[in-house]
Amino acid sequence: MSEVSVLKPKILIVGGGAGGLELATRLGNSLGKRQLAEITLIDQYRVHLWKPLLHEVVAGSLDTGMEALSYRAHSADNHYYFRMGSLIGLDKDAKKITLAPLLDHHGKQVLGERQLDYDYLVIAVGARSNDFGIEGVRDHCFTLDNAHEAEDFHLSFLNKFLQFSETGNETDAVHIAIVGAGATGVELSAELYNAVDRLEQFGVKKVHHSSLKVTLIEAAPRILPVLPESLSEKAQQTLTDLGVDIQTQVTVKKVAENQLSMVKNDQASTLNADFLVWAAGVQAPPFLSTLGLPTNRIHQIEITPTLTVKGEDAIFAIGDCAFLLNNPDGTLENPRPVPPTAQAAHQMAEVLAMNLAAKINNQPVTPFVYNDHGSLVSLSRFQTLGSLIDSLFKKNLMVEGKLAHWAYASLYRQHQFTLHGFWKTLGLILANIIEKRLKPRLKLY
Ligand SMILES: Cc1cc2nc3c(=O)[nH]c(=O)nc-3n(C[C@H](O)[C@H](O)[C@H](O)COP(=O)(O)OP(=O)(O)OC[C@H]3O[C@@H](n4cnc5c(N)ncnc54)[C@H](O)[C@@H]3O)c2cc1C
Repeated sequence: MSEVSVLKPKILIVGGGAGGLELATRLGNSLGKRQLAEITLIDQYRVHLWKPLLHEVVAGSLDTGMEALSYRAHSADNHYYFRMGSLIGLDKDAKKITLAPLLDHHGKQVLGERQLDYDYLVIAVGARSNDFGIEGVRDHCFTLDNAHEAEDFHLSFLNKFLQFSETGNETDAVHIAIVGAGATGVELSAELYNAVDRLEQFGVKKVHHSSLKVTLIEAAPRILPVLPESLSEKAQQTLTDLGVDIQTQVTVKKVAENQLSMVKNDQASTLNADFLVWAAGVQAPPFLSTLGLPTNRIHQIEITPTLTVKGEDAIFAIGDCAFLLNNPDGTLENPRPVPPTAQAAHQMAEVLAMNLAAKINNQPVTPFVYNDHGSLVSLSRFQTLGSLIDSLFKKNLMVEGKLAHWAYASLYRQHQFTLHGFWKTLGLILANIIEKRLKPRLKLY
């Protein structure tokens, strides 16, 4: 890109996830390409991996090398700049943000603390698992907050089964306890059984389907508590058939190494497992509550329907880190929070791209209205199910099987389409199909 003029408005987007990366791409290809604004995306990592794929990374069904996108290369093709760094501070009066010193993997400093100025700032730093202050969660549980954590769990999983095949007893099992039976916990449970079936197909000694024992723990009376009951029942049946032990109305009180202390109906108990996974709810990064912006109890930034932060006119927030009460039909009665989903982050990016262009051109902005298209849950190759919302008739349509699988996959394809355009996405789909034929169905490294 050519050297930019100082008069162009500077738009800084912090966080290159489902929302931020889509926004940078849209703005780059509109304002950036026509030299109407200088767009800069900042992320703490060099590559982007779409978060809903993380449970597949854990199980090895997905190769991060194939799906990860390099911010640097993508920015060059899409008329925006990329800076690597981690947001730690904000000076609203001076319109500057502060990035933490950048350290390499040995902890050695690569870059010192930096300050970047902006005319418009977008915060899109996502969310992470919420430990609700429960002792031991951070020290003893795996979480699926980013690709590094998912890869780490994947390697530990492979090593455990290597150990099991060499030294284990055929009648034993590797035990994984997953806390939280929302979409992440449910999808991960099924994906792990898929991985073990593949290990058996590869002839790993002593390993078969029953070599894995997953316990899924949920505080609510049923799994997938925010989805319709009929879906939850079907998912429960599929998981039970796979061998998952589902325990509902159980509250985890404390976590120690390989052990959960739990309470059900006032009865205390403990559960021992080889791996503990925490997938029980999300919170925005706590540092957001130190920036001088209005935040809620889980550190999400409070925004208005124009996606501006309450009380600010040059700072915006989108995606999981933003809190907005909204009604799908645009009415103001009984509004509900926009859910922390890729679907919502994508819709917010779409509207904010239009609004930032409108702001720069002194045009009126459009209020954001969340459009719930439904929810889908993929139980690996065993089942996909969900409910799609027919926006014309305002009806919930229950779907499963091939149609549900297609609808589930289309959410990721839509993300790729926004990032790469039609032809490159088509190329990536074909490359995926070829790769699946040529390579093992499980990543074994
Ligand atoms: C296993 C799993 C399965 C899921 N499945 C689904 C699904 O099926 N459907 C669905 O709609 N949603 C799903 N979700 C939720 C979905 O992934 C999130 O809602 C979505 O990614 C939110 O987008 P975002 O842009 O707000 O944040 P993210 O996609 O999380 O991106 C945040 C970005 O900010 C960067 N960042 C964080 N802190 C800083 C900092 N201080 N400085 C600089 N950069 C920073 C991160 O590196 C990251 O790139 C799933 C989530 C998980 C974990």
